[in-house]
Amino acid sequence: MVYVVSQGCTLCGMCETECPVGAIRVGKGGAKIDPDKCIGCGSCADNCASEAIVPAP
Ligand code: SF4
Ligand code: SF4
Repeated sequence: MVYVVSQGCTLCGMCETECPVGAIRVGKGGAKIDPDKCIGCGSCADNCASEAIVPAP
């Protein structure tokens, strides 16, 4: 399962640090997850204080 960033990203950068495969980049517009790299571990979602990361629909 791939995860995606929805609303509420505060650009804190925590998910970028937590992702074990380097699938997340945090830029001006918010965090972005590369779906080709994401292995669906859920670590980013667990560590996002804003609950901005959710499983892809
Ligand atoms: S952890 Fe959450 S709030 Fe922080 S950069 Fe990632 S998506 Fe945004
Ligand atoms: S679910 Fe895991 S592999 Fe996918 S972006 Fe989040 S931390 Fe990275």
